[in-house]
Amino acid sequence: MRQDNLIDGAWVRADSGRTLEVLDPATDLPVGSVPAMGVAETRRAVDAASGAFPAWAARPVEARAATLVDLSARMAAKRAGLAALMTAEQGKPLAEAQAEVDYARSFFDVAAAAIHTLEDEHPEVPGKSVRVHRRPVGVAVAITPWNFPLAMLAKKVAPALAVGCTQIVKPAEQTPLSAIAFAEIAIEAGVPAGVLNLLTGDPAPIAETLLEDPRVRKLSFTGSTEVGRLLMRGGATNLLRLSLELGGHAPLLVFEDADLDSAVRIAMAAKYRNGGQTCICPNRFLVHASIHDAFVAALAEASAALVSGVGTRPEVDLGPMIDDAAIEKVEAHVTDAIRCGATLVTGGGRRRGAGATNRFHEPTVLTGCTAEMRCWREETFGPVCPVRAFRDDDEAIALANDSEYGLASYAITSDPGRIERLGLELRTGVVGINDPGPAVAAVPFGGVRHSGFGREGGRWGLEEYLETVTVSRVDA
Ligand code: NAP
Repeated sequence: MRQDNLIDGAWVRADSGRTLEVLDPATDLPVGSVPAMGVAETRRAVDAASGAFPAWAARPVEARAATLVDLSARMAAKRAGLAALMTAEQGKPLAEAQAEVDYARSFFDVAAAAIHTLEDEHPEVPGKSVRVHRRPVGVAVAITPWNFPLAMLAKKVAPALAVGCTQIVKPAEQTPLSAIAFAEIAIEAGVPAGVLNLLTGDPAPIAETLLEDPRVRKLSFTGSTEVGRLLMRGGATNLLRLSLELGGHAPLLVFEDADLDSAVRIAMAAKYRNGGQTCICPNRFLVHASIHDAFVAALAEASAALVSGVGTRPEVDLGPMIDDAAIEKVEAHVTDAIRCGATLVTGGGRRRGAGATNRFHEPTVLTGCTAEMRCWREETFGPVCPVRAFRDDDEAIALANDSEYGLASYAITSDPGRIERLGLELRTGVVGINDPGPAVAAVPFGGVRHSGFGREGGRWGLEEYLETVTVSRVDA
């Protein structure tokens, strides 16, 4: 297993020789160690990306697209190894890790196809001949979180490379090995030296060096709202183009016409992916009063039946929380909710399996949740379902929109008029109607308000890495 960083096509260690250990969060066993890069290595990565940009941007679209398709095929061939590595460093069950490899690959196939749809435009202007074309912004930076180590990277690398940008990626410190394995595949697929560079290490000096360098023209970040704000401030000096995919606090609305079995199946699929450590997980369950009790009983029963444990065991549904701070936050939210008057229906504590760490939280259902509770205001990022009843559509929509976040929302209903209204009025970038998985590579994905801005997926994702040029000609 490769554990180096990639700069200008060479696999390198840190100048200082320092490394960061990567541990399996389910067992605390070592998985590997990666370089702790600093300012000098970061500057060299910008040199490499900047030097490689003209030739990569000039390469015919067909050639860039072919490289991306080749990269996707190589990921498919290495699916088992990539998934096993992801489970080892991130903890998610193996089946989810395999699905993530497929999801990550799909961004390369989609970007390779979408690049052909971006054509020059010729708006009609009296007395002038106008051509509007697009060109790559230049050197792009991607900073990614630990919860989807491959998918979050793919969402950024695929569009950047498709349009002709070169890139520097900085994966999360808990999950750098999946990113390194991916970079190795990119090199095998023929991505030229300097086009893709990868740095691991303390994020602050790396990010500051990147933000200060005027050759960097784009930053795409997925992570917490707090770090997103920090990067936005830092990007102001060079007026950096930004895409910020930040925290979420998704509401899931269950209306009175919902079929109970389907509603529970959809809620379970949306909530417990990656143990609830997903930015689009429902964090607030709003249920029509007429079916509230029946829905809660069925949700609690299905939740309690989930199996926790080390992700390599085939029967496991839920892996560990990523670290001690993460499970302590989940516990704090549950304790706070009960203190503020919520009723604990199932779960509420930790589970410990043989040979596993103490980072597994029980699937938990709470009812009677209110806006005073932390779990109703902040991202819990764990397997907790806070529930609250509503009486009519106006109240449901008002409660759903009562959050500073706006990434995803879900509704379970078949009423066409209501579906139309929800699409217009729910203030989130993504609305899933009876759909627990609305994030696919072919469609735009991203948030509004404190969930950030910018879109990933399809041609919308490519546009984030392009600047628009207007050539206005008047015949002399
Ligand atoms: P995080 O702490 O913000 O970290 C995300 C990335 O930012 C990591 O690579 C991290 O590096 C880096 N980072 C940390 N401090 C930094 C700094 N001062 N300057 C530059 N980079 C810095 O978030 P997380 O805890 O890993 O991820 C969970 C969050 O991501 C949640 O809020 C979740 O909702 C959000 N998320 C959003 C989406 C979306 O599409 N909207 C998708 C997935 C996750 P280190 O790991 O080395 O510290």
